[in-house]
Amino acid sequence: KPKVLIPEEEIRRRVKELAREISREFGDSRFVVVSLLKGAFVFTADLLRHLKGNPKVDFLRLKSYEGERKGSLQLLYGPELPLEGQRVLLVDDIFDTGESLEFAVKELLRLGAKEVKSCVLLNKEVEKRTSLRPDFVGFTVPNYFVVGYGLDLNEDYRDLPFIGYFEGEEDGQI
Ligand code: IMP
Ligand code: MG
Repeated sequence: KPKVLIPEEEIRRRVKELAREISREFGDSRFVVVSLLKGAFVFTADLLRHLKGNPKVDFLRLKSYEGERKGSLQLLYGPELPLEGQRVLLVDDIFDTGESLEFAVKELLRLGAKEVKSCVLLNKEVEKRTSLRPDFVGFTVPNYFVVGYGLDLNEDYRDLPFIGYFEGEEDGQI
């Protein structure tokens, strides 16, 4: 059973703050929120309700495929909205090696977005495989495997209202 790393109340407070920072950045201009499925769906839903500017919302799903081109990413689904000339806020759950976010930013630009800002709930303290850095970060966390608030372990725990981790992991036992 996961232990609490970031309690519900702390997430709520930080998400509101992030929304204020983001709204300040976008000002009065229109933008589209693009959320990475599945992990970012809870975070996106909460963030969205505090954002100013009535953004449109869309979703992306990436798949990393194994085999010959091991570890490489592809776009599995979305976005459906036209992004040509749009300002986009890309929302993801975790910035780990950074490869997913980098790939998603490039895809959105390829689809014609004129600007892509990125926002992640968690930044893990690990070595990155990209020079890209998210524009907005909720929390920086140690290199634990985390679950809850949309994040899963083999599709479980997405429903937890807090960010949790597994006991023993702080000693590197898991
Ligand atoms: P990256 O491409 O290495 O940055 O991987 C980021 C993606 O891996 C995130 O969007 C998550 O979907 C997944 N991920 C990385 N760490 C965790 C974790 O601790 N719990 C759940 N999912 C994770
Ligand atoms: Mg993800």
